[in-house]
Amino acid sequence: MLEIGLTGGIGSGKTRVADMFAARGAALIDTDLIAHEITAPGGAAIAPLVDAFGPGCLRPDGAMDRDAMRARVFSDPTAKTRLEGITHPLIRQVTETRAGAIRKSGQHPYLIYVVPLLVESGTWHARVGRVLVVDCQEETQIARVIARNGFTRDQVLAIMRRQATRAERLAVANDVIDNDGSPEALDAQVARLDALYRSLTDTSATA
Ligand code: ADP
Repeated sequence: MLEIGLTGGIGSGKTRVADMFAARGAALIDTDLIAHEITAPGGAAIAPLVDAFGPGCLRPDGAMDRDAMRARVFSDPTAKTRLEGITHPLIRQVTETRAGAIRKSGQHPYLIYVVPLLVESGTWHARVGRVLVVDCQEETQIARVIARNGFTRDQVLAIMRRQATRAERLAVANDVIDNDGSPEALDAQVARLDALYRSLTDTSATA
């Protein structure tokens, strides 16, 4: 089965593009959603997080306190390593279980992993057959995130500085979607790539 890693900077339109592929029949695994699931109340990461960081890392409802952990990681780089040492293997495990079920079901022409930090995280590139980058101007990203999250410009810029640059992403892309235009223009690009991915899946099935 053809497996594709979809990535892009914050606000580039990854979720929107992924939903368009899903509407055309692609299987989707969103690693950001999995990260939220394992850190929700009762999630698989909660007990090891409390062991590592104490009960102060949780909100009263039992979910990981994302703001508290963000502040902690910001002031202590070893906390980032410890946090990722807990969450990354769990995300990988859930991802693999879901991918296995999708491959076995045979119901989808191809599988798309949505991985915000694909370029930054290193191991992902080798795990997928192709990398699809959703690309847009930085000003477009900034405007979208301000509108979507109510962040200030400086907050968006601070997040973008911690992410790979456009050039770094484009350097590893097999396919690029330009998302500076309208939703209609986006759909036309998704349609073209959907046809490509279906044809590549057919080739690998008969090879
Ligand atoms: P990401 O998942 O990469 O952070 P999203 O898919 O959530 O980005 O897109 C960011 C915001 O911009 C969302 O509110 C989305 O609906 C909007 N958006 C994305 N692409 C377009 C587009 N082509 N035209 C208008 N709005 C868009």
